[in-house]
Parts: sequence; C-alpha cells; structure tokens
Amino acid sequence: MVPSPPNSLSVLLHSHHPPVPNVCPPSINPLWFTQRSPGFNPQVEPSFLDSGWQTFIFSTCSPRPLIFFAGDKAWEEHSEMWMSTLARFARPVFQRSPSPVVCKAMKACRRMELRAPSFCMTPVHIRRHQTLGSAPMPVAAHSMRHVRALDEERLMAVEWEDGGQSLYPFTWLRDNCQCPRCTLQSAEARLLLMADLDIHTGMDSVEVTKDGKVSIVWPDQHMSVFDAEWLKKRCFSDAARQAMQEELFLNERYYWDATLHIPQADFQEVLHDDGAALAWLLALRRVGIVHLKGAPAEQGQVARLAERIGYLRLTFYGHTWQVQDKSMANNVAYTSGKLSLHTDYPALHFAPGVQFLHCINQAKEGGESEAVDGFHMAEQLQREDPEAFRTLTSLHVDFTDTGTDYCDFMLQSKNRIIDVDSEGKVTRINYNNATRDSVLDLPLHQVQPFYRALRAYVDIMNRPENVVTYTMKPGDIVTFDNWRLLHGRKSYISRPDRLRHLEGAYLDWDEVMSRLRIVRRNVHGDAWASDKRSHLHRKI
Ligand SMILES: [Zn+2]
Repeated sequence: MVPSPPNSLSVLLHSHHPPVPNVCPPSINPLWFTQRSPGFNPQVEPSFLDSGWQTFIFSTCSPRPLIFFAGDKAWEEHSEMWMSTLARFARPVFQRSPSPVVCKAMKACRRMELRAPSFCMTPVHIRRHQTLGSAPMPVAAHSMRHVRALDEERLMAVEWEDGGQSLYPFTWLRDNCQCPRCTLQSAEARLLLMADLDIHTGMDSVEVTKDGKVSIVWPDQHMSVFDAEWLKKRCFSDAARQAMQEELFLNERYYWDATLHIPQADFQEVLHDDGAALAWLLALRRVGIVHLKGAPAEQGQVARLAERIGYLRLTFYGHTWQVQDKSMANNVAYTSGKLSLHTDYPALHFAPGVQFLHCINQAKEGGESEAVDGFHMAEQLQREDPEAFRTLTSLHVDFTDTGTDYCDFMLQSKNRIIDVDSEGKVTRINYNNATRDSVLDLPLHQVQPFYRALRAYVDIMNRPENVVTYTMKPGDIVTFDNWRLLHGRKSYISRPDRLRHLEGAYLDWDEVMSRLRIVRRNVHGDAWASDKRSHLHRKI
C-alpha cells in the first residue's frame, strides 16, 4: 500500500472538452471515484490525459478545500470536496506520469508545497528497504547513483538518483541475463536452461557503466549488462510490482449502476485509428461496456471488429451467430421472449470473455437491452448478505447445453456462480438461468441455502437502481465484458416485413488485452508498453 500522509496533494482528472469518444468517465462525477474499490490505484489514468483531459490539483490542506486547474487557465477555486479516496492513491501515480500536463501540475504542487510546509511530497525512504521511489516510472530516464552487491543476502542494491532503492536477487539477475547466449533476441525468449542456472550463484563484481547501465561479472566470468529502465520496471517492491501488474493487466474496474452513461466510440474510427481503439479497449476493460456507433447495418461487422483485435472465438453457435426469432430455437435467445439477466455460455468451463452484438434490425415494439455490473452486484451481495456471497463463491453448479448448430453438441460444466481468485476478488460471473442444469450436484442440506443465495443475488441485480436499459439502433454494436456483465432483453414484436436481427461474436480477454497493449504502445510509445521490446528497441 502506498504510504500516504493525511494532508497530501493529489491530482485529479476532469473532462475539459467532451472526453474524446465519450469513453472516459462521463463528467466530474464524484460517484465515479468513490465507487471504486478501496485498493484503487489509478496507474493507467494518465493515458487519458493525452486525449483531451484536464488536470486538477486538489488540496486537503488549505482552510477550504481547493481544486486548481493546472493548464493555462488561472487557478480556479471550487468549494466542493469529493475526492477523499482518490487523494490517497493518485499522487504517486501522477508523480510517475510522462504527460506534460501532469508534469506541469506536479510542478505547481511543489510550488504550493513551499508555501505550505504541511504538504508532504517526498516519499519516505528507509535505508535497505525498497521504497515508493523505486516504483516503475513509465518515461523519465532513470539513472543510478550507486550499485552494490549485498553478498550475504545475495541481493544487488541499486540506489536511484531520485533517492529510491531497489533490490534484485542474484539468482533472478543471472536467470534474466539479456546477452545473446542467454536470450534469443528475435523471439525475446529465454535460452538459458533451468538445469544450467546456478540458483545459489554469487557475484564477482558489479558496477555502473559510463552509459548508465549495470554491468555484472558472475563467478564463471559470464557477463550480464542491464539497462537502468529495464531494472526499474522490474523492482520487487510492493508498490512497483503492483504498478507493473496494473500496467500489464488493468485489473482495476469502475463499478457502476443504472446511472451509467454507457461509453461510446465511433465504429470506423476504432477500426482505423489506434487512439480510438485504445480508448475503446480501455473503457471496455475498466467499465465493461462500450457502444460503437455507425457500423453498416449489415452482417459481417462483428467479424471485422474481431479482426481488428486478432481473431474471434469459435463456439458451437458458429463463428458469428444470428439472434433472431427462429422456429425450433436451439437457444432461448432465438425467440421473441424476455431474456432475464445472464452471462453467455456458463455451460463452458472457460466462457468467452468478451461479446460483440451488432443491431441489424430492431423490433417494432420492445426488445430493449438491459445490463448490470455483475462485479458491483457481487460486492453489494457480499456487503448485504455475506452468507449468500460465501455460498455462491464456493458451491459448484451444473450447467448444460445440448443441440445442433455449427455441429452437434452436448455440453456439461460445473461453475461457481461467482468466481473469486485466491485473494477473494471477484473474477468472473457464471450465470444463465436457462442453461442451469436440473442436475444439481449438492448434498441435500445445501440445496435450499443455494436457492436462497442465488435468489438474493438475482434480487440485487434486478433492482431498478442497478439496471442500465438502452435501445440499440441499426448500426450500433454493443461490446461488453461477458465475464463481468449480465445482460438481458425485454420481449419484443418484430415488424411484419423484417425480423429483429442482431449478429453476435465472442472473443477472449487474452486476445483483447494483447491488442490493447499493442495500440497503447503505438499511441504512447514504448514507455507505456511494459514489454521487453522497449529495452531492445533502444539498443538498435
Ligand atoms: Zn548471458
């Protein structure tokens, strides 16, 4: 956890212009920030800044709370104070930000710090401990003041110019030697075999070279050279690891309810412009749902969008699938009836992570779409009914799906309704009442508690204050996180001449996140890419 003095400054974001393709938080919305999880670390926020966001500096130190513009505008005073949670976490992130706007803001912070000594802007450094100052910083070049080997602990200590310290185990350094004998440069892959790694290695000597790299000689006289930036990003401190993981996986989510303004982007821009694609994918990850507008109202568009990512996920319903009222429907979606809130495909043990739904023809009457934030609902359940939460995160429920489409299928799966990771954080919702099997593999005494728990969860998600309702128009594509959102639709009546028609496709999160990292690198340069390429490219 980031150490945080009670009167620290923080930098906030606010849309000055309408946010680029409406994919950023809708406005200066206090709820937006306070609804985030307590461990919120806005690591990726600065990427919004280059897409038209304004920066604010927020002070809790003055007699009255102040918010300042940090752009060219005059300081401006506001009287509201609504950012207590963010205040604790934002500042260290923005200190590491490459954005010129943020740099300007931070300079202004420092000026204020001189006037008000109670502002605490300096990370606390404790000798021989890794500090906040050792966290990875995306852009500014980092130089080393000093490097030495702590032979007893078998750790290499780097003291950075900014005062931070990082520690690196000898074994890890030897394992990750970047020389051509140890690393296949063309694949950025390790050649060194585990069997050849001395996991108890010592270190003969270590020094900072003239060009600011770390040079190590190992006992067998093999030599390794490490780039300062490369090391900095791989610092083992809690703060640095947390920042790196957030940069790689973007696991922080913005929780929402019925008040959500669904982020929007332009379909053509997303296809052709990396900046637009980045904004789309960031919002898809953070918010879980984005509307793309302006696609041609004809089949084939979800496949084009999947091509933009990489490839789509084939299932038994085909490469893409047509949601229409069909006789002898092999799925409840292929009727004109109401669909209660569900995730798609819990009958698979690994349900598709992302779903695209393209409206080609809308109904004459009804057919409105509904969505809830399943993670947010799970958090509410945990708060209101911890027993029900425990039940749904522990019991495995049987799902089934049988029929013929792409080919014949007879699926069975066992999934927890609410999947959590080893730390209890919700990672996936698996719930579709239509495909929940009549086979229920539970001892008798757990059956009624299971129904009670599931009903409690469903009742929360059906509360009007939690459900976002929207009507798709021909040419709209809704893209959403199928591991997180539950979606549904109201019953409908088609036009006499044209059936209501949506075309859908699935993708997986691995492929979507891969594209996100690539467009992020294209837009923000290597500095924002955490990959090894940045290191290699600079050498070329
Ligand atoms: Zn080597």
